[in-house]
Amino acid sequence: MSEAKSKFKFACTKCGACCDGRGPVPLSLQDIELWASKQIIRNMFPYIKIRKSDAGLGLVLNMLGEAAPPKDGEKKAGEEDADDGIGGDVVPKGKCPMFNKEGKTCLIYPNRPAYCRAFPLGYEDGSYVVEMDTCPGLGSTEEMDKDLLRQMRDDAKRVFDDGHQLGLVLPVLQAIIMNAMQEASMRAMAKMKPEDLKRMEEIMQKMAEDKEKK
Ligand code: SF4
Ligand code: SF4
Repeated sequence: MSEAKSKFKFACTKCGACCDGRGPVPLSLQDIELWASKQIIRNMFPYIKIRKSDAGLGLVLNMLGEAAPPKDGEKKAGEEDADDGIGGDVVPKGKCPMFNKEGKTCLIYPNRPAYCRAFPLGYEDGSYVVEMDTCPGLGSTEEMDKDLLRQMRDDAKRVFDDGHQLGLVLPVLQAIIMNAMQEASMRAMAKMKPEDLKRMEEIMQKMAEDKEKK
């Protein structure tokens, strides 16, 4: 990673090098909200993990591959968060689960994370940085579209600004999960036989009575 020069010139060659053999993609609150509004968040859940870094806790889009084995006396990556349901091993490098290797395409391209929209431009502690010096799109002779560059800058900064605000992201995730569970539960109830519904009502009534006795 190096500091971005004032004349940042870039035109993506669509080589796909940034989507394969890469590290986890940091997620912003806006990514989670976007996926919720597009109703693709449930497809993303298996790949969303909590990563602990020096900057704090943050959500990432995990890669497909092997998690790094823990060193002696060390906790496994993400082990601290395994009980929250979206923790688990964070894969240090691998193929992005949203990358179609054959076609070299992103399966969620219109809804890709802000980090990917800004790539290879990143932002860290008040400075724009180049995330991948070897990106073949860098140094393009084409003049950069000003609106695109502004958008890339905004996205890069947003990822930095709210990437580690797990306190903001977790309530949003919880609301999404609750909503998904409620929908699934209503669908399951609609398919239940009358005798099973009656049995369920009895169980719920018994639970309510037990609670009152306490
Ligand atoms: S951003 Fe760079 S590395 Fe990624 S696909 Fe475009 S040219 Fe290739
Ligand atoms: S989300 Fe799409 S653009 Fe981002 S790393 Fe994965 S495949 Fe590439």
